[in-house]
Amino acid sequence: MTWPAVLPDVAAAPPGARVAFIGAGPGAADLITVRGAQRLAQAEVVLFDALTDPALQRLAPQARWLDVGKRGFGHATGQAAINALLVQAAQAHARVVRLKGGDPSVFGRLEEEMAALQQAGVAFEVVPGVSAALAAAAGTQRPLTRRGAGRSVSLTTAMTHLGTLQATRTADTEVFYMAGRQLGALAAHLMEAGWPGTTPAYVVSRAGWPDALTTDHTVATLADATAPHADRPAVVTVGAGARPVAGPATVQDP
Ligand code: SAH
Repeated sequence: MTWPAVLPDVAAAPPGARVAFIGAGPGAADLITVRGAQRLAQAEVVLFDALTDPALQRLAPQARWLDVGKRGFGHATGQAAINALLVQAAQAHARVVRLKGGDPSVFGRLEEEMAALQQAGVAFEVVPGVSAALAAAAGTQRPLTRRGAGRSVSLTTAMTHLGTLQATRTADTEVFYMAGRQLGALAAHLMEAGWPGTTPAYVVSRAGWPDALTTDHTVATLADATAPHADRPAVVTVGAGARPVAGPATVQDP
């Protein structure tokens, strides 16, 4: 059965919206939303990032695909150039897709690109996606929240724009993006922030892809993950949500 048959009511784009920011999900193409896939199928131009699956191009063979990927802090395409290209594309085409890895609202420079479009008077919509933290939790079968012990989750970038490390203790479960290259330093900062060295922590790289890799650690031994995950996009999950689920489950209601 095809999608139109089982799901006829994919919401139309808001009137006048020329750009759709779409979350591609964390990796494998089938983790995009149905709405995202539908927008791609109608796109004339797609500006895409490095961490999106090339297989997604099959959803929009009619579109021009422009690679505007940035890699870490070595910018292949600078943010200002991306903003300008996006505005230009929207002025020339009615259906432009800005495809971002994971969810566009999470460490995706969405604010800058939205502001550029607003300034140029271009209307847009945002279609959510599965962020890496959620794909890591799903793939490792470790719920991010736990009854009682895990009531809050935070998403933190390990790096600030000044290049300094940021570690916090603001939630029962903390997920760190962009930490891959300095796990030893992150461990030290986490302990300074009050996490005991024995706190469970795990690292997942390429979450959502067939070759996803998970390694288990404690906060104190996080640096051991550096080599196995080298040069792969990775998230670090620390705290209550990092514990493997122990079975057999005892069900308590409510
Ligand atoms: N908007 C994206 C995040 C972009 S920032 C999202 O919502 O997921 C880029 C960082 O995201 C990477 O440095 C890495 O920390 C994380 N990341 C992206 N894709 C990932 C994946 N498949 N597995 C693990 N981490 C990933």
